Amino acid sequence: LSTDVSVLGLGAMGSALAAALLDAGRAVTVWNRTAGRSTELVGRGAGAADSVSEAVLASPVIIACLFDHASVEKTLGPAADELRGRTLVNVTTTTPNEARELASWAAQHGIVYLDGAIMAVPSMIGPRAGQIFYSGSRAAYDALLPTLDVWATSEFHGEDAGRASLVDLAMLSGMYQMFTGFFHGAAMVATMGMSAADFAARQAPFLAAMTEELAGYAKVIDGGDYTVAGQQSLEFSDLSHIVRASEEEGVDPAPIAAVQALISRQIEAGYGAEGLPRVVESLRGEG
Ligand code: NDP
Repeated sequence: LSTDVSVLGLGAMGSALAAALLDAGRAVTVWNRTAGRSTELVGRGAGAADSVSEAVLASPVIIACLFDHASVEKTLGPAADELRGRTLVNVTTTTPNEARELASWAAQHGIVYLDGAIMAVPSMIGPRAGQIFYSGSRAAYDALLPTLDVWATSEFHGEDAGRASLVDLAMLSGMYQMFTGFFHGAAMVATMGMSAADFAARQAPFLAAMTEELAGYAKVIDGGDYTVAGQQSLEFSDLSHIVRASEEEGVDPAPIAAVQALISRQIEAGYGAEGLPRVVESLRGEG
């Protein structure tokens, strides 16, 4: 096999990445731990490798899209010699430190390393509807950009390999807390018989409108002055009535109580008159 790119891991995401490369005219070799997942891609022109080594030796660029950090280590560890001098783009979700560990392992073995964090579901890969963040080798990013751009909008975050994953996980943190806020609200109104669908129809446009606030909050956080006039104060943001209402309806107030605890910490420290974004100081552990 002699191809442009090898894709290791043909789960939902790895298959979508490989298919998009084929659609863009790249010669692709694929490998998956469990046999039988490459049939469709082979039908579309991909070469199937029987082993990780064979897949690695087939191309100068290796994409790893496996389950987690441990599966990447287990899969690539024994192929370090074959990877020497090639470029490894690892788009498997890892923590920042796991990405840094892989980058230093790669450096020790003469492997060029680029870490990727995918902000998209597989169906968004073909139509290029998502974003992928990268960090690690700038030279590899620049050289591979025409290929990376086949998948999504690409964004480089720096040579420290952990940075792409840090931005990715920070984005997902916001997303999951928004989802959980919706789940909590849906549980509250369910006690009066409102369906989750009816609640979602109201919540979605409201949340979308509220995202307009983020830029203003960001300005205050970046400026570091929580006394800037015109902000909603921490005292005004006391959420104990939401916590009580949740309890009165027999719904666990855990999500909103966690937010209230962060606000209270700032009020108790004497910052009640300052703006709501001061919550970020509770999270930084600076009081
Ligand atoms: P899937 O569960 O569909 O596929 C997992 C893949 O990892 C399979 O190819 C599986 O092989 C392989 N694998 C698991 N464990 C091992 C192991 N120990 N050794 C070798 N191969 C292994 O997951 P996805 O394709 O959806 O996700 C892949 C990566 O992409 C994950 O890190 C995920 O977080 C990330 N991602 C996925 C998104 C999505 O929406 N799907 C979005 C953003 C990121 P086998 O077939 O043999 O089990």
